[in-house]
Amino acid sequence: MKVPSKDYSRQHRQIWEELLPALEGVFFDDQPVLGQAVSRFEAALAEAHQVEHAVGVGSGTDAITLMLHGLGIGEGDEVVTGAHTFTGVLSAILRAGAQPVLVDAEPETCLMDIDRIAQAITERTKAILAVHLYGHPLDLDRLNEIARDYDVLLLEDAAQAHGASWGGRPVGSFGRAAALSFHPSKNLGAVGDGGAVLTGDEALAEWLKVARNLGKDGKYAFALISGNTKLDSIQAAILEVKLRHLAEWVQRRRAHAAIYREELAGVGDLRLPPEADDRASPAYHLFVVRTDKRYELREFLKEKGVRASLHYPIAAHHQTALAPVFSDAGFPVAEELARTVLSLPVSQELTEDEVRYVARQVRAFFEE
Ligand SMILES: *Cc1c(COP(=O)(O)O)cnc(C)c1O
Repeated sequence: MKVPSKDYSRQHRQIWEELLPALEGVFFDDQPVLGQAVSRFEAALAEAHQVEHAVGVGSGTDAITLMLHGLGIGEGDEVVTGAHTFTGVLSAILRAGAQPVLVDAEPETCLMDIDRIAQAITERTKAILAVHLYGHPLDLDRLNEIARDYDVLLLEDAAQAHGASWGGRPVGSFGRAAALSFHPSKNLGAVGDGGAVLTGDEALAEWLKVARNLGKDGKYAFALISGNTKLDSIQAAILEVKLRHLAEWVQRRRAHAAIYREELAGVGDLRLPPEADDRASPAYHLFVVRTDKRYELREFLKEKGVRASLHYPIAAHHQTALAPVFSDAGFPVAEELARTVLSLPVSQELTEDEVRYVARQVRAFFEE
């Protein structure tokens, strides 16, 4: 059996009949840029997240940078975020001109350790950027409280958490604003790049619409110096179709995760991701296990036709680009995660049989 970590063509074949007319709509729209497909998708996305505004942009990292810019966060400001993260998040903060201040990971959830946030806050801190890594929601009640107590903004990065909720409310709807990515690998993925900012802040939404479009606020009028990072109409049309399937897809991911949990409890030195509870409802963008033998296990799985991947094998503060920014910093939990994490296939396109096959192979590795 061959089990890929994700299978885009399988996903698209399943919804091909819906994708074709959506694409046709874009080809015959007289306004191919920021046309109806984009505004329709933005409206649907905002509604799905129970927020007032969604503004589509060119990528998730641009969404983070613009969200910070639009809130006046830049030079001289600090943004507190998790050390165990996707490195692009930190680059996006730095590109806005602000300094990321890292908080080590909490060893159970692998997410930013909320207990350590207070000691990372200084008088320069403007925001906490909560990254719901792997699709697992951070405790948004506690984060809201800390943001209120220290008078800083709560912002979210829900790029890996499409379909996750906290206390029954979609993640991405808790902070002043949230960044989303539609990179093809995400739970809600385009066929190319895309991103969005969600917010209830109307002034921010209006600013973003100008900022994504070269700073233009009229046909010939430029109000800002800005780049060009619009959500593409073709991608918006595809995403509008896929958004209708998101809830069902996330259910499938949860079912896959439940199989792994049942099959892999107590196997070898494996540590499994935290379970859902009455407040955290994860979206399982990734199913990340931890083991001291992760490279051996990955190799064994590869021989059995299974693709496991690594999120992420190099700690962000050790990346060549970022090492100078965090030169004397140590984040022992994040560093240990970089050494031990392994992502088992959990995509919505996989069948139950495929997931059971993966689980059997993982057990076989440890029983050998
Ligand atoms: C993918 C991702 C991003 C960036 O998204 P792009 O669209 O690839 O720029 C940001 N944050 C997290 C947590 C991500 O996983």
